[in-house]
Amino acid sequence: MPTAPIHAAMDQFALRDGEIVVGGQTLTQLAARVGQTPFYAYDRGLLRRRVAELRAALPSAVKLHYAMKANPMPALVGFMAGLVDGVDVASAGELKVALDAGADPAEVSFAGPGKRDVELRQAVAAGVLVNVESMRELPVLAAASHELGLPARVALRVNPDFELKGSGMKMGGGAKQFGLDVELIPEALAAVGRLGLAFEGFHLYAGSQNLRAESICEAQQKSFELALRLAANARAPVKFLNLGGGFGIPYFPGEQRLDLAPIGANLAALVERARSELPKSAIVIELGRYFAGEAGVYVTRIVDRKVSRGQVFLVTDGGLNHHLAASGNFGQVVRKNYPVTISRRGGVGPREVASVVGPLCTPLDLLADRMDLPAAQIGDLVVVFQSGAYGATASPRAFLDQPGFVEVLV
Ligand SMILES: *Cc1c(COP(=O)(O)O)cnc(C)c1O
Repeated sequence: MPTAPIHAAMDQFALRDGEIVVGGQTLTQLAARVGQTPFYAYDRGLLRRRVAELRAALPSAVKLHYAMKANPMPALVGFMAGLVDGVDVASAGELKVALDAGADPAEVSFAGPGKRDVELRQAVAAGVLVNVESMRELPVLAAASHELGLPARVALRVNPDFELKGSGMKMGGGAKQFGLDVELIPEALAAVGRLGLAFEGFHLYAGSQNLRAESICEAQQKSFELALRLAANARAPVKFLNLGGGFGIPYFPGEQRLDLAPIGANLAALVERARSELPKSAIVIELGRYFAGEAGVYVTRIVDRKVSRGQVFLVTDGGLNHHLAASGNFGQVVRKNYPVTISRRGGVGPREVASVVGPLCTPLDLLADRMDLPAAQIGDLVVVFQSGAYGATASPRAFLDQPGFVEVLV
């Protein structure tokens, strides 16, 4: 069965009447409750379970931050803020959502290139930690701090001289728009001191979507060593050492879930060393996709079924305008099918090879390319798994002016 390895990875969802259950309801029931397709549904139980699994696998001293760019739905951010130790934002817009959601400003950090002056001022006013990515940010923060009479809390985001091997997106090492090159850090630390900013630590982020525990461990270890060396030049103790994240989730046949055990053991060793070598510091890891990705599905309804020269096309009421990542156009080099199935009361029945396409006038609007699927009719629901991260938020929803989607937290 070609689909077996794909769906075996989707065992986080129970089945009832042969249908996938999300948030306690079958998708047919949930679609009726939502009142329209397409929609995204995020399962609170799965989010909670994922946090609990991480807490069990990693040392309790490691702080878990939710990187909300993966899924900034306000209700979900509020739910996550109650479960994790902090929230990482990447814009003033995200900062607003995090603060509205009740995240503690002391545990919010703000990273990202190109922070505008007004955003830096907002961060100082809110009392959150700014992960500085450019020398330009330092005097702007100092001016805001002086004007407002509030400390400017800063960590330096370091662009290290190594990469995260095996990650889907590399965000550190080499020439990058992210962070300050490690060579610049002594100068940046001197400027932080001169300008009277409140130095709190370092942020290292090597990359994203990594399924290889050993390369994550290696990056965390190298990041730790680098932070130790850099801390020798700091005038204040390191309080905050953000070692990044990059934990991946399986999307494609043959991919296995990340093994947390070696990462937990590695972090335990680093926590132990930090106790003596950086005694005031807390180790933080920040994860977006790993928290939210597997807890979400995208659901769209079949509005047409066509056969073109022997190939079956199921045409749905949403596509890449809602879920760019599943279409393969969000960073995939070689397009692969996300895990997709048909959800219908009564279960699977006969199967057929079909392509699922959205309603947009472009051949890029493809949710499944010649996949082995339960045979489907007009009106059936198509489910795209692994859709809780970089789905809704990373899609060009205005493209072709099609109706939008609804998001529910269930
Ligand atoms: C994107 C990003 C994250 C989240 O990445 P995931 O792959 O979703 O875990 C965390 N930190 C920084 C700095 C990021 O840019």
